[in-house]
Amino acid sequence: MTAGIYLHIPFCKSRCSYCDFATDVYKSSEAVERYVAALCRELEHFDSQALAGGSDLLIDTVYFGGGTPSLLTPKQVEKILASLHSKFTIDLCLEMTMEMNPATVSLTTLKDYKSLGVNRASFGVQTFDDTELKRLARGHDANDARETFRMLREAGFENVSFDLIAGLPRQTLGDWERNLDEALKLRPEHLSLYLLEIHEGTPLAEQIRSRRQPLPDEEIAAEMYELLLERMPAAGYAQYEVSNFSKPGFESKHNSKYWLLEPVYAFGVSAHSFDGTQRYANERDTAQYVQLIEEKRTSETMRENIDAASEFVFLGLRMTNGIDLAVFENRFGFNLRQKYGRQLETLFESELVEIYEDRLLLTRKGMLFSNEVFSVFV
Ligand code: SF4
Repeated sequence: MTAGIYLHIPFCKSRCSYCDFATDVYKSSEAVERYVAALCRELEHFDSQALAGGSDLLIDTVYFGGGTPSLLTPKQVEKILASLHSKFTIDLCLEMTMEMNPATVSLTTLKDYKSLGVNRASFGVQTFDDTELKRLARGHDANDARETFRMLREAGFENVSFDLIAGLPRQTLGDWERNLDEALKLRPEHLSLYLLEIHEGTPLAEQIRSRRQPLPDEEIAAEMYELLLERMPAAGYAQYEVSNFSKPGFESKHNSKYWLLEPVYAFGVSAHSFDGTQRYANERDTAQYVQLIEEKRTSETMRENIDAASEFVFLGLRMTNGIDLAVFENRFGFNLRQKYGRQLETLFESELVEIYEDRLLLTRKGMLFSNEVFSVFV
């Protein structure tokens, strides 16, 4: 049995205006050191033998997410990996991803991460336009992003992904096309291309409310998505998920585990795990998390049984090859079309989903309105 490991590193150089992740501004190396010690302690006290699969459990993906994991020193990464190895059997063909941000890495640290086993880099570009980067309070410019990509290649990374966001306030279709052109010129192995979501409580939501930024135009965002669906296959990138595109063979193995409802054990502040039956989460506040781990070795704040069938449907629909109806029936013992007949009827009528070769899939229109489709099954 295989599973993934997620390690949350919450620190960032500054706070981006649209971000609602569990992050903290990097204040001191001591705070990071104390956090790393807590994370190692959480790993070392984890009862991996009690898991389904027990000693046969093989970890085939590790993901350092954040936050900005590239604010960690190679020594800290090494320490975390040593704790991980003390508890889990790690596959030799492991995919090990580290999220990074431009202007937080040097060629030397990248080479060190690589020698520790990190073999996939995922970094946040968001846009190659300096004015847009400033508006988003990203804390780096477009040249920093280009330089990060160049250094990753020089350090020997052969599996590189980066993110872009479409539908930014004031962004035109032409601006988006220039971003796509530059991304495709770099030829990364993988691209994550998101439509901007505005989250309550973020500075961006406040700027829009107080009219300092315009509300992004939904029609233009839809045109941006359409453009993306046309340009990516022509450039040799297959879409395998609503927002994710890759060259053949470079799909994210780790993220696919979430969409296929496979186990992922997560460590660190606000980390969410799924063990195949239950989902559980850690404390969301970093200082609280560190204190709880130091005192009690656990910071679990939530545990619940999930409705696995409905999660399998709305997560599986994110993937372009959708859900195999026979696989669903085998796994859950009932027929998907019968169980969700009423919901599916409305979605078929609105042309948001379709059945093709015994698989339930999002249509092109369904890709654009995917959140509407998923909400039907939640
Ligand atoms: S770098 Fe990423 S995680 Fe950090 S504040 Fe910006 S969007 Fe959030």
